[in-house]
Parts: sequence; C-alpha cells; structure tokens
Amino acid sequence: MKLSQSIPEVDTHTHTVISGHAWSTVTENAAEAAAKGMKGICLTEHGPGVPGGAPVFAPHSQLMIPETVGGIRIYKGMEVNIMDIEGNLDIPEKQLQYLEFGIASFHAGGSTGIVAGTEAQNTEAYIKTLQNPWIDTIGHADEPRVPCDLEAVVLEAGRLGKLIELNNKRVPSGDTTGTRAEQYALLCKKHNQRVCVGTDAHFHTMIGDASRMLAMLERIDFPPELIVNLTMERFEGYLQERKERLKAFNI
Ligand SMILES: [Zn+2]
Ligand SMILES: [Zn+2]
Repeated sequence: MKLSQSIPEVDTHTHTVISGHAWSTVTENAAEAAAKGMKGICLTEHGPGVPGGAPVFAPHSQLMIPETVGGIRIYKGMEVNIMDIEGNLDIPEKQLQYLEFGIASFHAGGSTGIVAGTEAQNTEAYIKTLQNPWIDTIGHADEPRVPCDLEAVVLEAGRLGKLIELNNKRVPSGDTTGTRAEQYALLCKKHNQRVCVGTDAHFHTMIGDASRMLAMLERIDFPPELIVNLTMERFEGYLQERKERLKAFNI
C-alpha cells in the first residue's frame, strides 16, 4: 500500500479529556481506532505543567485502564512537559517508571507560562531530556517557537537508540516543500533514524489520521521501514528494546 494511504497500526501520540484541553475519552479514542482497523494507541496525556494538565500521579493512575479497550491495545504513556532550559520535567521519576512510552515536549508560549531559551539552550535541554531513560522521544521538536538544532536532536536520539517523533500537526496542508517538518524528516532519512508518526489527536476523529505527514514522507521517498509504528509488531519490537535499555540502567 502507498504510504500516503496508510494508517499507522499504533498511534503514538493521543490525548483524552484528562489532558485538560482535549475532548474525547479513552473509550471513544479506542472505538475510533478499531473503526479504522488499527491495533493500538498510546495515551500521551499532558502533564501538570500546562494549565489543566493531568495530575502528577497520572502515570500510576493509568494502571486502572485495562490493557485493551474495545480490542485496542492501550499503551500507557504521557507527554511530559520540559519546564525550562535545564530540562526539568513536570513528572518525577517515581511516576515515570509506570509508563510504557514517554514523550517529552517543550510547550513554550504565553498561555502555558513555560519559557524557551536560545537555540543552543533548547538543543541542550532536548539532549538532556533524551538521556532520561524513561523518555522515548521529544514531541514536535520542529515547533518553531522552540528553536533548536534538529540535526543534533536526531543524532542524539540515534546514539541512544530512541525515536524521533514526526508530528502530523506540524505538517501544513498543501505544499510542504521547504517546511521545517520536511527538513526534520529529511534529517531522519539522511541518518537512517527511526521515527514514530503521531497524530497528536485532541478529538477522537483525529486518531490514526497522519495523512499529511505520510503524504510528505512519501514525496521525499522516506523509507517506510524506519517508521516503527506503521505496524504493531515493529512497535512492540521497539518496546522490547526499551525494556532491555531500562534493565541496563538497573531500573
Ligand atoms: Zn505537545
Ligand atoms: Zn500532544
């Protein structure tokens, strides 16, 4: 099947009402995924660092959610906030240990009160965050409000065996040539870096719809085998690596 017509079997970036500004429930998101023939979704809720975000104990609280809902595997995750240029996170390690998949994002901007630094400072914060064993990827690092050296982020993710998130919301509709999203994807292609394509769904109809990103990746001849969440089997393979990595940290 052409990449542009594919739906990832696992959506690695989704939100529910507990994120504070998303509008569907776990059950609604799972039903949408099932209707689209998908196999899993990662719950990646906003942490408490953004107004209205999930509580600090959300990772532990997620254990109440069954492994599957409506036949869809629910991977317990968070979109943790990077709170400052030191790379401090809004969820402590004793909570991060409950996660199956961790995204960390720098949601800088007037409405969050989180302040980004210079390009060099933000790059350093991203690199430090990637080195946190519980974190699998940086969310939307191509966000222009947080300038960074994208190539340095790609190289560090590769060195650590982690993923680069390619976020569908970062891809404009229409011509994507020359965009920062394209630049980021081209760097992943150049360095043979594995990626996860996330929709960042804040409403259930957005679940699994990475069509703008996938069309762009098809246009730049991005190798589909580098997209770990296109199939559940490949994503599970990554999670197995993650377990081994955590063992090596003795945690
Ligand atoms: Zn985000
Ligand atoms: Zn998000």
